[in-house]
Amino acid sequence: MQCIRCGSTQVNIQAVTETTFKRKKKSLLYWLTIGWLIEPMLWIFLTLPKLIYELFKPHRFTAKSKTNTIAICQNCGKSWRV
Ligand SMILES: [Zn+2]
Repeated sequence: MQCIRCGSTQVNIQAVTETTFKRKKKSLLYWLTIGWLIEPMLWIFLTLPKLIYELFKPHRFTAKSKTNTIAICQNCGKSWRV
């Protein structure tokens, strides 16, 4: 492996795990029917419990993780994906 910038062979290979979170959205049908009616009421009467529930509800987020291999040049510090 050679550095793409300076040509040095002192290149460190690292595996980096990248995790991204995506928030799931409720369907349009839900909002057209009962979503707009129920959500504000819940927020009024159950603000605190709902807030806690929203924070800790795990299935609202889908985690995607992928492993990237990154090379780091020991000479000039250039890093790039392999
Ligand atoms: Zn370099």
